[in-house]
Amino acid sequence: MKKTKIVGTIGPTSFDKNIIHEMLDNGMDVVRLNLSHASFSFCDKVIKMIRELEEELNRPIGIMLDLDGPSVRLDKFIEGSVNLEEGKEIKIYNYPVICNNTQFSVNYENISHELVSGDTLLLSDGKVILEVVESLNDYALLKVIAGGEIKSNQTVYVRNKELKLPFISDKDHENIMYAIKKNVDFLALSYVRDEQDVLEVTDLLIENENNHINLIAKIENNSALNNLDEIIKVSDGVMVARGDLAIEVSFEKLPYFQKTILSKAKEYEKVGIVATDFLMSMEENPRPSRSEISDIYNAVMDGCDAILLSGETTIGKYPALAVDTLTKVILSAEEDYDYDDNLMDIFENKLDDITSNIAYSVLLSATKLNAKCIIANTYSGYTASKISQTRCKTPILGLSPFYETVRLLTINYGVYPKKTVECKSADTILKMCTKEAIKTFDLVDDDIVIITGGLPISNKNTNFMEIEVIEKEA
Ligand code: PGA
Ligand code: MN
Repeated sequence: MKKTKIVGTIGPTSFDKNIIHEMLDNGMDVVRLNLSHASFSFCDKVIKMIRELEEELNRPIGIMLDLDGPSVRLDKFIEGSVNLEEGKEIKIYNYPVICNNTQFSVNYENISHELVSGDTLLLSDGKVILEVVESLNDYALLKVIAGGEIKSNQTVYVRNKELKLPFISDKDHENIMYAIKKNVDFLALSYVRDEQDVLEVTDLLIENENNHINLIAKIENNSALNNLDEIIKVSDGVMVARGDLAIEVSFEKLPYFQKTILSKAKEYEKVGIVATDFLMSMEENPRPSRSEISDIYNAVMDGCDAILLSGETTIGKYPALAVDTLTKVILSAEEDYDYDDNLMDIFENKLDDITSNIAYSVLLSATKLNAKCIIANTYSGYTASKISQTRCKTPILGLSPFYETVRLLTINYGVYPKKTVECKSADTILKMCTKEAIKTFDLVDDDIVIITGGLPISNKNTNFMEIEVIEKEA
């Protein structure tokens, strides 16, 4: 069983219950819906499928909605796309116009007022470059420096300039309300610039009495890199959004930022996800490229909790095979991961609260006794995620009577979440824990398991650890 989690984005080529089922069987743990592309009616249908599959397969599935964020996007071209020729001029308007190869508009009505001559606009993943010739009241005149195809809805970057867009646009406000209504598990915050952006979303969730949704800050621009510590502190996790980040920063620095962001996530005990282009060649081919295999392996070695697939599973020809390939490489990397070395790091940590102390004691005993699993009987998921942060070799069974808790644990490294019945006494908890562990890990007599949680039942804090030797009833 793999420990590193897989987030799979659903799009046109995977929009089918059987395919999603296959993706789940092949190792997908969390489903992502990207609201920059997916409509609410599309999301409604996918969420319904996921919740049905959750029942049918008897396993929790996390759902992540990805917001638009304060990004400038091209309005629609009638033909879907146009080709821009190098040397030609094109106008960008402050209000919606018919978009073609002489003029276009974007979703930001103030754009020309923030542009000055000499500014550079990057389109089509940075391949198309436009330079501002002059900025007027209604539009800015641009010259095509590097030509190519641009498509409806693509992101427009203004190099080295932070536009004054509000973090929560009207559309994202609607998206967040939708996420609350659907009670999804994770919200991925695109183009976060500083901690204030994250806190604005937190406030909106509190105002709407949602204390469930976890916030994943996507690190994809220079401001986010500059404010990394502050952002991670107020988020539940971070995503190395390599797609956009590679356009904003010098692309040769991308591996450095991947490692830095993941190690910072670990320092603050938050979830770390890496996204984009892991298996891009599998959009067309049934086999990955050599460099992609190495990329996946290295992301696991960098200590991420989860790897995210986007194009591979939204528009690619082989969504289920891509997940299967990812699982194979992850398993191979985990075989080589130096868990002992990691354990040494943990002792350097400050142990200043009860849960941390129990988590580390559990970890030590599990390692010394070569336990088959750690069972975290958890209310909020905190104990299980805390143990997961130590990257221990022993798998963690995360048990909770609450769907919301086990769905959140689908993203944590090494945690196998399972919804259980609510137990009335300490004795029944312990019995139920060992029963679930025997089922999940095929345990045999004399196997050792370590159980941790909060007792009595009404106690929501972790305060006990018990070492059990399996004795199956005859
Ligand atoms: P996106 O984010 O897929 O929403 O653009 C990920 C990235 O930029 O890598
Ligand atoms: Mn992005």
